[in-house]
Amino acid sequence: MDAKDFKYINNSEAKKVLSVNVDNISADDLLGFILLPEDKIEALVNLAAKIKEQYVGNTVYYRGLIEYSNICAKNCLYCGIRACNNKVERYELNEDEVVNAARFAAEHHYASIVIQAGERTDSLFTSKIARLISKIHSETGNKLKITLSLGEQSEETYRLWRDCGAQRYLLRIESASEDLYRKLHPADGKHSYKKRIEAIESLRKLEYQVGSGVMIGLPFQTPQHLVNDLLFLKDFDIDMVGMGPYIEHHETPLYEHRALLLPKNERFLLGIKMVAALRILMKDINIAATTAMQALHPKGREMAIVAGANVIMPNITPLKYRKDYLLYEDKPCTDEDSEKCLKCLEKRIATTGNQIGYDSWGDSKHFTNRKNS
Ligand code: SF4
Repeated sequence: MDAKDFKYINNSEAKKVLSVNVDNISADDLLGFILLPEDKIEALVNLAAKIKEQYVGNTVYYRGLIEYSNICAKNCLYCGIRACNNKVERYELNEDEVVNAARFAAEHHYASIVIQAGERTDSLFTSKIARLISKIHSETGNKLKITLSLGEQSEETYRLWRDCGAQRYLLRIESASEDLYRKLHPADGKHSYKKRIEAIESLRKLEYQVGSGVMIGLPFQTPQHLVNDLLFLKDFDIDMVGMGPYIEHHETPLYEHRALLLPKNERFLLGIKMVAALRILMKDINIAATTAMQALHPKGREMAIVAGANVIMPNITPLKYRKDYLLYEDKPCTDEDSEKCLKCLEKRIATTGNQIGYDSWGDSKHFTNRKNS
């Protein structure tokens, strides 16, 4: 974020912004939400909370997160596990480790899992994933919905994985503005904004529940970029969103620009405003309370839930691998086993007045509503 672009609006402007017609949100309204001063955030959160209750209810759904591998062929400039970071110890879970993690999720009534990894498109990788999806379904009695977060793939690969039983796919756009996207990715022929958009379109065509998301508080990012991000999610009719504050990693090229960043507490509050703004804009989608929120504030995920999020992704990766999947620094929950993490989360969610949707798939209502329309 270039701090000079970030000027809060005054009290009378804030009053106007907070009395918007929530059924007709404009780009200017979104900009107003983003530029609200700190003492007006509670009012924005209250507005979003009412909409959440009305459209998706006060239930939080679990997605057990399996960080399958930190091997990646790409070099995104912000990412701690980028291919060129040779300080990372690389790993890939074996089949039993993945299936055991999925069993843990099923036995603990999570109903959904996410398989996430660095991006690889080789046939060894794509066929392993296909086999894993089938095996997870057969070993857990088809109880789990499977989300994949495995980057840009060919339409053929997306089809293969869907036919094996994956129902949801997360592919973050990171920034919907092409100028900023280019600043976050090297110009090496492997990182193309256009290809990212085409991949999202393929997923939609193949009838996945499609998830995307952005980073908030990036160097070079202006309030207008954030407005564009929200409008992009709306224009692409995204079903599920995971977005959180950008947190720098010292072994990445983007770290050089850390002097442009807002202080961490302001980046966190910006994240809360974005979650609330998105809930007001896209009333029936699923929104994740991301771990990055908690990295910047001890109650970050709870606050995101209150501001409109309704999904949480407890990490169920075997503990010994977690320290090697650091996309950013100070990532929480890297030293707590899955059982402990579950108990901690239950307590945390109880403080928000939400209940946990155990044994419920918690499909995006937006997706269901679109299919039925
Ligand atoms: S963000 Fe994803 S694709 Fe980019 S380097 Fe990191 S793991 Fe690889």
